[in-house]
Amino acid sequence: MPIVIKNGRVIDPASQTDRVADVLIVDGRIAGVAPNLASPRAEILDATGMIVAPGFVDMHVHLREPGFEHAETIESGARAAAAGGFTSVCCMPNTKPVNDSAMVTSYIVERARHMAVVNVFPIGAITKGSAGEELSAIGAMKAAGAVAISDDGLPVMNARVMRRAMEFARSYDLPVIQHCEDLNLSAGGDMHEGVQSVRWGLRGIPAASEDVMVARDLVLAQLTGARYHVAHISTRNAVAMVDHARRHGLPVTCEATPHHFALSDDRMAAYDSNYKMKPPLRSSCHRAAIVEAIAAGTVSAIATDHAPHPGSEKMQEFERCPFGIIGLETALSLAIEELVAPGKISLNRMVELFTTGPDAVVRLGRGTLAPGAVADVTVFSTEVSWTYDVNQSNSRSRNSPFDGKTFRGGPMATIVNGEIVWRRDRA
Ligand SMILES: [Zn+2]
Repeated sequence: MPIVIKNGRVIDPASQTDRVADVLIVDGRIAGVAPNLASPRAEILDATGMIVAPGFVDMHVHLREPGFEHAETIESGARAAAAGGFTSVCCMPNTKPVNDSAMVTSYIVERARHMAVVNVFPIGAITKGSAGEELSAIGAMKAAGAVAISDDGLPVMNARVMRRAMEFARSYDLPVIQHCEDLNLSAGGDMHEGVQSVRWGLRGIPAASEDVMVARDLVLAQLTGARYHVAHISTRNAVAMVDHARRHGLPVTCEATPHHFALSDDRMAAYDSNYKMKPPLRSSCHRAAIVEAIAAGTVSAIATDHAPHPGSEKMQEFERCPFGIIGLETALSLAIEELVAPGKISLNRMVELFTTGPDAVVRLGRGTLAPGAVADVTVFSTEVSWTYDVNQSNSRSRNSPFDGKTFRGGPMATIVNGEIVWRRDRA
């Protein structure tokens, strides 16, 4: 059935559109963006007072399937994505088995085709088993649908291996995504190294563990010419180095997570494992640098690093519990509250960070409302008031520091391939 999204403010950075108009969807494609569109038998979605944007892309999630279905599945993770306004997600390879072969990549693509309400694009591992030694079957994974390579969570420590990976990635025209952490510098750390870690008596992860890896990789990116992307950037020096590389014309990009621009280590609930992630929440000075880098254009994408862990694992003492939080359902609201509402960035820039920004890295061919484009659409409001109840989450996991928080602004409806896959309940 055709859909007409009526009367919304259409923001499409790819076509430099920002005006009140209707959006007509026919046969899963955008058929037109103009005032007063109509189509017989069309379903009407009233978007008066709302923003209508290209479908949001989250280029960094963990869906946990295959292997860790007690934490998340492709089906549940995709529903959480839809409820967060995301129409496409890229899933990291740290499953069991690791996505280091065309067989696992194909399995994820097939499962997603049957189970997922949003588009799922796998990211292949850089090395076999993400063990950091032998390169995985990069070409075969790309042929099976991988859109990037990364050993996220297990950084490639050996510079020679990383150089070879970048050379291969360049020949296959894939971006290399690095979780930047020198494991020798961060070893044993549970939170950002600084005043707060001393105060709490917890072992610190120094900012330098990220900076050292970014510095090394930028040298290798220059050597190889590979497209290189820093995942979840979190330090002042790291953004300065990425900015420097970009100014010198290197094809280097980075993403920031909502928790790194919204929170800092002085705003953590003490010993609450829902504030434990990698990279850790940094000090407010680093947080300010991330916000500045988002505003300045150094950061290309907002990505959640949605990392589900079941309660049984997260409800251990701080030092023992795993790193990571879920984030798909709160990302847009945090961006509105922390970046747009205080005037750090415009609404148009925020939409870029969720659409054309990530799409320029992983090249999904999504992220626009141009006529003929696949009808992936995110409808959201900057006014709606809603409260996040993690126990109502679509995710199988509950590890969020934002449980109980009332937000102003959030997703209203999510359309994937011309189908409405999620709508906010009218209270
Ligand atoms: Zn990571």
